[in-house]
Amino acid sequence: MSTTAEQATTLSVVVPMYNEEAVLPIMAERLRKVLDGLDVSYEVVAVDDGSTDATAAVLIGLRRYWPQLRIIRLRRNGGHQAALTAGMHRAVGQYVASIDADLQDPPELIKDMLDLARSQNLDIVYGVRNDRSTDTVFKRWTAVGYYRMMRGFAGNRVPHNAGDFRLLSRVTVDALRALPEQQPVYRLLVPWLGFPSGTVEYSRERRAAGVTKYPLTKMVRLAADSVTSFSAAPLRLATWLGLAGFGVCIALVVWVLVAYFIGVTVPGWASLSVVLLFLGAVQLLCLGLLGEYVGRIFAAMQGRPAFFIAYDSAEDAATAVADAVEEPVPAGRTR
Ligand code: UDP
Ligand code: MG
Repeated sequence: MSTTAEQATTLSVVVPMYNEEAVLPIMAERLRKVLDGLDVSYEVVAVDDGSTDATAAVLIGLRRYWPQLRIIRLRRNGGHQAALTAGMHRAVGQYVASIDADLQDPPELIKDMLDLARSQNLDIVYGVRNDRSTDTVFKRWTAVGYYRMMRGFAGNRVPHNAGDFRLLSRVTVDALRALPEQQPVYRLLVPWLGFPSGTVEYSRERRAAGVTKYPLTKMVRLAADSVTSFSAAPLRLATWLGLAGFGVCIALVVWVLVAYFIGVTVPGWASLSVVLLFLGAVQLLCLGLLGEYVGRIFAAMQGRPAFFIAYDSAEDAATAVADAVEEPVPAGRTR
């Protein structure tokens, strides 16, 4: 995209999506209505996170009648945060909003976010969920635990219940892009920046179509990344457990000596097994914790990119006739 086009784009809306063929047409219609009504120049950066369903084809179909829709296809599924990163790196707008594809976050709010950011000169506007009654009980409970834990680790700047629906200024996006993090967790990194921010509240809607792309394994991964990228406190657990173990040992030694001198040296199989099992478990736990951090250091040192772009319709438009695209590009091939 040319420099003038970059300067002219006021708003970029990044939408990571993975196998969202069911919801995409409804999403596009609602989002387009909002954005066309804004009266600013915009681009929608649809990041297709290596979908294996018809998402790519649907996107290309939509783009025929919606020139502001830009398609970035990743070569393989890298996960929600990786897709977000790809979109943020490529977005050119003076403001960059990010929103899920499943319409759980109402696109209409983007207007409020932009108005708030412009009128109060804010760098960050968080979409804060004030009502999650449409989420499953499990999702709500895990979310409460997650946000409580993260406020504990990353500080009180982390707003309650702010997910990845937010608006960032160009300065903020550039600051995030400059960070060397390999596995950025934006919902913590953005508050960590501490730039002037505001919030817009909304109630979380039900997923408009399709099923969640966040199984328990991905949720656990996000939580582990969140903790290890923001705090070394779990490592201190080893120290505390070690100290506690030492205290117990001293007490046991005293008891053993007393028992020896008064002559009640019973076999003591049960106490020995308990001590052995306990110490073994603690040591394994601490090794595992160390492993988590060593793993992060390892990944950071390798410096491997979190995503691989197979195709960007903006580049395509710059080099070829814009709508010559007929078929989705299969993963693993560059157009
Ligand atoms: N997503 C993605 N890559 C993935 C998993 C999810 O781009 O590997 C997208 C997904 O398409 C959606 C957003 O991330 O736009 C949030 O996922 P989802 O709605 O499934 O999560 P939930 O709302 O259930 O937590
Ligand atoms: Mg969702």
